[in-house]
Amino acid sequence: MTTDFLKVEKVQHPIKTRLLEVKRVIELSPSMRRITFTGDDLAGFLSASFDDHLKFMVPDEFGGKPNIPMVGPKGLIFEEGRPKPAMRDYTPRRYDSATNELDIDFVLHHEGPATDWASQAEAGQFVGIAGPRGSFLIPTAFDWHLLIGDETAIPAISRRLEELPKAAKAIVVIKTATTDAKMELASRCVLDVKWITEAGHASAGMGALETTVRNISLPQGEGYVWAAGEYNDIKAVRLYLTAELGIDKSRIRAASYWRKSAPATHEHFE
Ligand SMILES: Cc1cc2nc3c(=O)[nH]c(=O)nc-3n(C[C@H](O)[C@H](O)[C@H](O)COP(=O)(O)OP(=O)(O)OC[C@H]3O[C@@H](n4cnc5c(N)ncnc54)[C@H](O)[C@@H]3O)c2cc1C
Repeated sequence: MTTDFLKVEKVQHPIKTRLLEVKRVIELSPSMRRITFTGDDLAGFLSASFDDHLKFMVPDEFGGKPNIPMVGPKGLIFEEGRPKPAMRDYTPRRYDSATNELDIDFVLHHEGPATDWASQAEAGQFVGIAGPRGSFLIPTAFDWHLLIGDETAIPAISRRLEELPKAAKAIVVIKTATTDAKMELASRCVLDVKWITEAGHASAGMGALETTVRNISLPQGEGYVWAAGEYNDIKAVRLYLTAELGIDKSRIRAASYWRKSAPATHEHFE
């Protein structure tokens, strides 16, 4: 049987930078805030995959406007004489062209320019974004989907679960810092969600994500694994899935969304 319809595809998008205004802020859990952005610049925003990210540009003072770069032939060009904004990667959680709204869900339990900004954000404040400049399109037609991550991956995993068809099976493992960070995950598909914490699930020398993934029996059929979170957690999970379980590298997408003691990191494990 041909499995051509299960091929992943990469697409590029022209980079666009945008100045956005905060429309509203809601608390999703004690450690996650949803910030809804709007603004004329948002028109035509495109996010083709749950795996997408945008560059989030933080103003250098709360309430101010960030130095939004222009897109030149060799990259971003910032206005001279003004500080460049701190830039961090975030998942576009929801874009609605009818209401001209973009949601980004921010994890709040550490300090850093993006998190500090999100913690104090209120309607009327400004930020910048650039991208997404490309999308990694993973078909929804797999028989099963294993989605693994920590809180930073909840926006992408939630988006994926919303788009999966009824016939799909999704096994989801999410590690949160505390048990009160759990939230509702909506999906039509057959869903098995394991919420875990490091304290409750780690075993000798092995992190909680790896321990939990090692105890999963994968369903029959064609499947795809998507994983994102802290560098060492995801590296260990990917190594187990590829080297020990024999999952083909074309059937796994694993990324480090952050790394302990290192700001602004992003890496794909190939
Ligand atoms: C493709 C992609 C998509 C992402 N999507 C989201 C998203 O939708 N929502 C979201 O909240 N995050 C998301 N992240 C993670 C986010 O970019 C990082 O957590 C980022 O480091 C936050 O920036 P900061 O300015 O708050 O902290 P930084 O200045 O980057 O880091 C400061 C310190 O905090 C630590 N740190 C960073 N993140 C965490 C964390 N989550 N938990 C504990 N300590 C941390 C760092 O190790 C560092 O020591 C995504 C990352 C990538 C690569």
